[in-house]
Amino acid sequence: MVASSVLGFPRIGPNREIKKVVEAYWAGKTNAEEVTKVAAEVKKLNWTELQQRGVTYIPSGDFSLYDHVLDHSAAFNAIPKRYHGLGLSPLDTYFAMARGRQADGVDVPAGEMKKWFDSNYHFLVPELDDAVEFKLNFNKPLEEFNEAKALGITTRPVVLGPITYLALSKATKEAKADFEPISLLPKILPVYKQLLSELKAAGAEWVQIDEPILVTDKGANFESQYVSAYPDLVAVAPKLLLTTFYGRLESNVNFIAKLPIAGLHIDLDRAPEQLEKAINAVSSTPIVLSLGVVSGRSVWKTDFSAAIKLAEKAISALGEDRVIVATASTVLHIPVTLASEKKLTEEQKDWFSFALEKASEVATIAAVVSGSQDAAVAAALEANRTSIAKRRDFEKNSDDSVRKRVASITPDQYERKSPFAVRLDAQKVLNLPKFPTTTIGSFPQTKEIRQARAKLGKGEISEGEYEEFIKKEIESAVRFQEKIGLDLLVHGEPERNDMVQYFGERLSGFVFTQNAWVQSYGSRYVRPPIIVSDVSRKEPMTVRWSQYAQSLTSKPMKGMLTGPVTILNWSFPRVDISRELQAQQLALALRDEVCDLEAAGIKAIQVDEPALREGLPLRRADWDSYLNWAGNTFKLSTAGVGDHTQTHSHFCYSDFDDIFPQIQRLDADVISIEASKSDMKLINTFKHYGYSNNIGPGVYDVHSPRVPGDVEIQERIKAMLAYLDQSLLYVNPDCGLKTRGWKETEASLVSLVQAARWARENYV
Ligand SMILES: [Zn+2]
Repeated sequence: MVASSVLGFPRIGPNREIKKVVEAYWAGKTNAEEVTKVAAEVKKLNWTELQQRGVTYIPSGDFSLYDHVLDHSAAFNAIPKRYHGLGLSPLDTYFAMARGRQADGVDVPAGEMKKWFDSNYHFLVPELDDAVEFKLNFNKPLEEFNEAKALGITTRPVVLGPITYLALSKATKEAKADFEPISLLPKILPVYKQLLSELKAAGAEWVQIDEPILVTDKGANFESQYVSAYPDLVAVAPKLLLTTFYGRLESNVNFIAKLPIAGLHIDLDRAPEQLEKAINAVSSTPIVLSLGVVSGRSVWKTDFSAAIKLAEKAISALGEDRVIVATASTVLHIPVTLASEKKLTEEQKDWFSFALEKASEVATIAAVVSGSQDAAVAAALEANRTSIAKRRDFEKNSDDSVRKRVASITPDQYERKSPFAVRLDAQKVLNLPKFPTTTIGSFPQTKEIRQARAKLGKGEISEGEYEEFIKKEIESAVRFQEKIGLDLLVHGEPERNDMVQYFGERLSGFVFTQNAWVQSYGSRYVRPPIIVSDVSRKEPMTVRWSQYAQSLTSKPMKGMLTGPVTILNWSFPRVDISRELQAQQLALALRDEVCDLEAAGIKAIQVDEPALREGLPLRRADWDSYLNWAGNTFKLSTAGVGDHTQTHSHFCYSDFDDIFPQIQRLDADVISIEASKSDMKLINTFKHYGYSNNIGPGVYDVHSPRVPGDVEIQERIKAMLAYLDQSLLYVNPDCGLKTRGWKETEASLVSLVQAARWARENYV
């Protein structure tokens, strides 16, 4: 009998229960007991649902109130010094590490957040140095294993592997210059041994130990660490299933298969071609091969026939007992269940499969390849065949005019008319001072804004009343910016529900869900639209609002658009055509919008590509091809304007070292980037490569409610000017402000404007 498994499950709750309770807790509206209670209910529901769907191996220990990497740091006592001695409870210390804390005389910033591999999920980067004293503050996988056991459900605990954990960590500021977190492996292993032996004593048969670092190029550097650490762990642990996901192991499979592990999981959704190599590597060992045949990243129904083929291949080589049919990765990255969607048509619903449906898929595929004679299994198999065939039919009815337009793109459409120096001169029409101050685009999405949108959705207010409301919001954003003295204004985006959803709703080719939330970080969940057919623009999407905002002020107004790569990367893409083709379709639609904004008198237009970097393939060998088409689609969307129109772009990260030439190639007139949490490493990169266009490194961190003082911002500007040409520096926050409140936004921006004034007075 072939077993089935799910590697991890969304922990947000079917109705965003976790977001609601932790946000209430942060606001002081509920207590820690209530948080624990709601968390227990969500965990119980997840385990029960997976059990009911017939999944053999159900995960536990994968739940989190904020982030599983942060949980791991808290459990292993990797708590940076600045959070010590604040007189906070363990839960409040945990949340202080996650989001900073500024209350009751405590003022600590949050830790750094980074993208989790190539996903849209963010984790808190562990900070380590030689002084860290690892110990087990609590055994989370054990607690959850016991919690499930008390409900009569046997689970397979999930633990973040030691080498991946250390590989994702960074050195603290106090660490000695050549410190590498991986050097702490001998120090952290005893804690892992304790954690694993406690799980064994509690009766866990298997433990899933996640080592996704093995699918990156870095993975190969850690061969000696794997070879030395794992025999040690295996000696005291339950059976270890070493899991790799999001990509291919390549030659790493050779040393992994020699480890004394009981099982190995590989991702066959992202890399089906690695099956044969993996079978060969484990065939002469007792290792069980867990096959990730059901995507943890895609919302599309699994094509059972393709998955069955892969499973049968493994079974014929290894036997039924040595094969598990599994999700390719955790299904954290997709919404909880299709059952919550009431507005999708039956045809659309039939295309998709969310987390719970994926659980049924692994169970069905495992039953089919085990030779099940069950009528329900046969019916599910037949239904899948019919669904897949219907979708293939739909795909054939693509929009021919869109495809023809993509096919006739010419090289000159990718380039601006003149080089930057000429444009810089032409853009004097904007009349900006030195050290121009601006924001990234969005202002706080207040309760009133969300309520008005909800009322419109329910038909409680008319389209006209909503428009009036939005106009008032825009006007107050404009007046606010004028009052505090910003130079390049934005309309504040009150009409935007989300930077991707808003555009998706106005473009042909997308469908939308009601409740299909996925966790981006902490309590921030997003509801990505789904691209289902060829994309085109029906009519202008933003022009009216930008034009209205510009009519209110004599200062220049920035038009705000989301770039093609970001719309693609933050949507659930199609799987039947390439991502490149989908991005080109989006770029042409945006190009029309950019040109319409210019024609409407908007002098600066920002096309954001915060997701450009996170779309990078995990393997370096695949980068050039991605960066080439991704960069081209950005250029295609922005290059249609005249020299006098200033193009901006924004990037929500600071790792530019390795993609710098591509950022330079985008040739945006101004780029704004996240810098506030990554010190000056980033600025150094720009200096090193000689970035020639305008640049606005973020001068404060918007991801935390903490308010920076003006002297703090002056110091940042001063530090930046040691590296950057003062005539090219813009002063802005490090990201959009929509998740912030007005109070801290106003205080922070006042500091920012004061600091820019100081710079004008102190630099000639
Ligand atoms: Zn950003």
